[in-house]
Amino acid sequence: MLEQVRIVLVNTSHTGNMGSAARAMKTMGLSDLCLVDPVSPPDGQSVALAAGASDILANARTVPTLADAVADCGLVIGTSARSRTWSWPMLDARQAGEKAMAEAPRHKVALVFGRERTGLTNEELQLCHYHVAIPANPEYSSLNLAMAVQTLSYEVRMAWLAGSHHEPEAADYPLAADLERFYAHLEQTLLDTGFIIKPHPGQVMTKLRRLFNRARPEDHELNILRGILTSVQRLGRQGK
Ligand code: SAH
Repeated sequence: MLEQVRIVLVNTSHTGNMGSAARAMKTMGLSDLCLVDPVSPPDGQSVALAAGASDILANARTVPTLADAVADCGLVIGTSARSRTWSWPMLDARQAGEKAMAEAPRHKVALVFGRERTGLTNEELQLCHYHVAIPANPEYSSLNLAMAVQTLSYEVRMAWLAGSHHEPEAADYPLAADLERFYAHLEQTLLDTGFIIKPHPGQVMTKLRRLFNRARPEDHELNILRGILTSVQRLGRQGK
């Protein structure tokens, strides 16, 4: 189950943090590390701080974007040191561990960590189903990146150790890549119908992402939505 959980580090600046994160993961039994566009690749400093976990670093995948890192995941949880202005479903660290273990039997789960200074962008946070904040001191809530990885990995492990006490997730959810294809199809259809006007797209797609994220359509429901979009486009092409 633990091999279903991927730790994703976005645009990390300090190579030492990559090593410390690898160590944090290995102590909790996690092994799947993905680096999104690291400022520089893992180096001697990373290996030194990974200590006995340099195998995790050596096996880490490096990809250009967050969408690439989570494409094959059915649940994506983004971390944030503060709650953002517009609401998104929030979990605390314990709930995030439990949710990860409830869904791990069905699909891969990504826990996404942001830049040391600026965290995750709003666009990156919109690729996540849930946001998780470690309920730290509100006056000083920003943990070191690797320590945040440690805390979330610990919660995943605790949920895994609690094992059979949890209700496993029953639904089949689309993978992140399928959801992104749906959003691209939706946007294109709304451009075709003139609902969205190119120079002034506004916040429509952000709000629709929020709506569909909240509803969390299952596989077969997403197929119906794709079918509806295709029928609207067909009608448009017939000039009706
Ligand atoms: N100023 C940034 C802080 C970045 S800290 C911000 O407001 O987001 C670097 C990363 O460590 C964050 O992107 C997040 O992945 C993780 N992190 C730090 N503190 C956290 C907390 N309290 N809860 C969850 N993740 C946290």
